[in-house]
Amino acid sequence: MSSSEGSKWVSRCVFGSPPNLSELDELAVLYHEQAARNTRDYVRSWICPDCRKEYKPIQNMLVDLPPFSCDDCGLKNDAAYEWRITQCLINGVSLDFKVYDQNRKPHCTLYSVAATIDATRRVEGAKKGLIISTPLDVPEMAKTYEQVTGFELGKEPPEELFETYDNCSLIMEVVKAHGISFLLGEYDTLLQNKCVDLPPIPRLRIKSYFRVDRNNVLLITRLLASGYPLTAGMLHGTLYWYLKGDQYYYAPKCATTADAHAITLIRSGLASKNNMPETFYSARDSHGTKSHPDHKMRDFGADFFLWGM
Ligand SMILES: [Zn+2]
Repeated sequence: MSSSEGSKWVSRCVFGSPPNLSELDELAVLYHEQAARNTRDYVRSWICPDCRKEYKPIQNMLVDLPPFSCDDCGLKNDAAYEWRITQCLINGVSLDFKVYDQNRKPHCTLYSVAATIDATRRVEGAKKGLIISTPLDVPEMAKTYEQVTGFELGKEPPEELFETYDNCSLIMEVVKAHGISFLLGEYDTLLQNKCVDLPPIPRLRIKSYFRVDRNNVLLITRLLASGYPLTAGMLHGTLYWYLKGDQYYYAPKCATTADAHAITLIRSGLASKNNMPETFYSARDSHGTKSHPDHKMRDFGADFFLWGM
């Protein structure tokens, strides 16, 4: 295959634009009263100690965030906070969602995309007061991806991928074009096999998706606080497998792409990293509920912390 043909999948990728800050402000105004969480109370105004300028909390749909930094001198607000999407309710509907298990297959991106879609559907449904939780058939998504692209999922040739490592955009293009099938129970499958007249099972469709610059921490934290869970890539080493749910992961800086792992960001906060205020995220892993056990949750795991920068 020539190099011009080599990147045909990447050249087909159409990224939408993320909601901008004023759109996030608008969402906050629309849904402020319908979202319930236990963190709003302690988010206060902040006065920059150098400039004496006062900053109000940043209002978002799910949760208000402390002012990020001073516009004039750039000083970071060091007030610690944390919250997570999975603890929030909109119109009384919980936004917690399924933990997937990729079962040792190199399918993390697809599972993380499924988790992100699950969480997004929950938020969209909850805005209307509905619980939307029909499970997605991820193994079927993997099959469709491999048929459509001709690649083995998780083992694509690097030159075929976005920036040579990212298969997420390819997955999103396939999902956009072919939809995702819902997971059927045994009874539904039996019915489908018996009655040829039944209409085909509806597939979930996606209109668009967007990418965010990982350095834009303010936008990322505001997107999360506005009910946009995000699929993210990280590097991991051996210690990752021993990481507990209440520990912060210091991801290795240099590693091969074979150590890249996709996760779903569901939370943000601010804590001290080497005595400096630093934003952290919480991620939901797709290695089942036994990964990253959390003693507070009786060893029910899958979520862990990682630093924003
Ligand atoms: Zn200042």
